[in-house]
Parts: sequence; structure tokens; C-alpha cells
Amino acid sequence: MPSPQEIQRALDIHGQAYLFIDWLRNARCGDVLRLDQGHRKESDLNFFDSAASWLEYNEDRIPSSLVPSAEDRKIFVSMLVSFRMTSGDYDLAYRERKMSQYWKSLVERVPAGNFCECEFCDRFVWRLGNFARNPEGGSGRAALLLKQSALRALLKESQLPLVEGDLPEILKRRGMFDNELSIWTYAWELVRRCDYEQHWYTHRQVESGVLLLWRRIARNRQGKISPEFLLTVERILAARDHVVEALQRTVKRRMA
Ligand SMILES: [Zn+2]
Ligand SMILES: [Zn+2]
Repeated sequence: MPSPQEIQRALDIHGQAYLFIDWLRNARCGDVLRLDQGHRKESDLNFFDSAASWLEYNEDRIPSSLVPSAEDRKIFVSMLVSFRMTSGDYDLAYRERKMSQYWKSLVERVPAGNFCECEFCDRFVWRLGNFARNPEGGSGRAALLLKQSALRALLKESQLPLVEGDLPEILKRRGMFDNELSIWTYAWELVRRCDYEQHWYTHRQVESGVLLLWRRIARNRQGKISPEFLLTVERILAARDHVVEALQRTVKRRMA
């Protein structure tokens, strides 16, 4: 189970990555950043490596307050790579239809053939110009699978007499604690995402559930996503306690 320190660190670096993304959007990154292939290295084996070399290549153009420290860099890169992956979009046709004005003006300003098309640049810069989509059909199932994984991890550590086979019943009754479970699952996933390189391939099917979890958590009484909404470690740990209590109730019900 992630420790409070791990959760805090994940929240902090995630927040920092999103400040950086906000800055990129406002800075019209085509004018500020180097978007050519110059960052590519022999050692760029996948898009995590590419993201790291891209960050290094552009570092002197980024305000120093937004540059991650050496020890946070790996997690920061994980958050950059996961940006918009967690709202899932691999559909090229969709991508062409929705190509934003931002993207068009960006491409126009970068001389033809001078735009890096490595997997990282291609996806990341494109995502910058697009706003999060509404979660679609598969996201509900993806969110449920994430909750199931988070619950499974919690079960293993809870020392309660519950096993894997009890998960369906627990999930069926989750109406009572679904919001708490969503909060805990979101945080658990965020900590896991700090090591995204280990997970992205097997978990990309469920990543689209993250956006749905976030929307459920951050919704205010009017059903709108509140921009001021902030998830704290205290709130996350309280949510975990509620979920554990729900598990304890399951055990009691059985013994009754
Ligand atoms: Zn590139
Ligand atoms: Zn995994």
C-alpha cells in the first residue's frame, strides 16, 4: 500500500507536471521550444526515453521554476507521458477530425519536415492542443477494473479473512462507498503511475478509466467539475479507511 509520503510526492509531481503543461499551452510552444528531431539519442529506446531527452533538449527554454529536480525527473517524465493517455485516444481518424486550431497554427510555424515525429513528440504535442474528451463507453468498465485492482491490493494487506473470490460481491455492494473507493483508486493509480514505464503497456486498456474517476471525485454538488478541487493526502487516507471499514462490514455480514 502506498505510504502517505509516496502519495504526497505523486500529488506534488503530478501538480508540477500540469503547471508545466499549462505553461506550454500559454507559451505557444512552437515559438519557445525546439520541436525538431535534435533531441533523439541512440539510447532512446521507447517514448519514456524520448520524453526524457526532449526535456533535456528544451531545458534552457523552460522557466527554471518548472524544471523538475534531478530526483523528481523520472516521475515527472512518467506524468508527461501519461498526459492525455489517461483520457485514452489512439484513434487516428478521430485525431484528424478534431485537429485543433492550436495544432494547425503550431505546425504552420514549424518549418516543414522540421517537426520531430518520434512517438513522444507526435503524441504529446498533439495532446497539448486538444482538450480532454468526454469519457466514453469503455471508460466505465476501465474505471471498474481499476477499482478492482486497487481493492485487490488493499485486500492483500488488510489481513482480513477475504480472498480474491470475494471481490465480485464486494464490488456489487460498493454503492455505499463508491465515492471513497474512487478517491482511493485514483490515488493508488497515481502512485503506480510514478513508475509508469513498468505499467503502461499492460495497463493502457484501463487508463481511460482514470479520467472518469477524476470526474466523479472532483464533481461539486451541481455536478460540475470544480476547478478549485484539490485532493489532499488526508482526504485520500480517510477514503482508504472508509473502504477498509466497508471490507470489515463484509466480514461481519458473513459471520452473522
Ligand atoms: Zn521527438
Ligand atoms: Zn502494473
